[in-house]
Amino acid sequence: MGGYSTVLEQIEEETRPLAGRGEVAQYIPELAGVRADQFGMAVVTLDGTVHACGEARVPFSIQSISKLFSLTLAFTCVGDALWQRVGREPSGTAFNSLVQLETEKGIPRNPFINAGALVVTDVLCTRFVNPETALVEFVRRLSGNATLDYDLRVARSELDTAFRNRAMAHFMRSFGNLHNPVDDVIDAYCRHCAIRMDCVDLARAVAFLANGGVNPWTGERIVSESSAKRLSALMLTCGTYDAAGDFAYRVGIPCKSGVGGGIVGHIPGELGLCVWSPALEATGNSLAGSVALERFTTLTGRSLF
Ligand code: GLN
Repeated sequence: MGGYSTVLEQIEEETRPLAGRGEVAQYIPELAGVRADQFGMAVVTLDGTVHACGEARVPFSIQSISKLFSLTLAFTCVGDALWQRVGREPSGTAFNSLVQLETEKGIPRNPFINAGALVVTDVLCTRFVNPETALVEFVRRLSGNATLDYDLRVARSELDTAFRNRAMAHFMRSFGNLHNPVDDVIDAYCRHCAIRMDCVDLARAVAFLANGGVNPWTGERIVSESSAKRLSALMLTCGTYDAAGDFAYRVGIPCKSGVGGGIVGHIPGELGLCVWSPALEATGNSLAGSVALERFTTLTGRSLF
């Protein structure tokens, strides 16, 4: 698959002019200061070959991409019991919306919107004495980079302004769907979102999903083959919030985005990938990143379909 480096060069040339179009997330003060015109992309094939372009080695705040890792870790702890507390349907609303929670009795639509990730984090708070360390260690194992950590300044910045997420957490607690104190869950959630990684490490960290649930770098089974398929199905249907239908149409592979401007994805049996550009379109996905992914599956002829 040596052709991927050439494809990435072409994508960078085409997409770089779009970097900076859109809005860098403002509601977390520490994120607002990130330079908007950065662009990086990495593809890691299952034999470990890395193809990268642009700012692929510049670490950024993974934000909601952490929801993929926290879901995987929670799933390894409680399995299908999770689905009694979180749904598996696209929400059709913004990632931080509260509107469905009342009519749906505190059961979030899916684990990739904020409310769903808060329930997933609650599972981790019950299971681990130190849920933030548990997730950081998990991501270190998946990526093979033992130096990864969360950025305390970003975590504090979000903690100070997490009014909406706190509201959701209190609301779900009133329905009995949060078992730990709201402050503990919000604290762990914000630290998870504040993990800093670059495109290469993220592409490596999602490769276990492309590899039938086995970490290709260590041979360790992370989840069963069936669970890897199911997690990937959730990425495809819910991983990019209210734009998931558009992503399936334009990109055609399972993806998970974050408001730091990163988007991870994978092609089963082949590769993990990550693109990063901080400026977002209205749905909260990286604008240049979305275009780059569309170009990637178009130029390579690779997608699920
Ligand atoms: N930390 C962010 C929040 O909770 C994550 C949102 C996102 O990346 N979509 O609002």
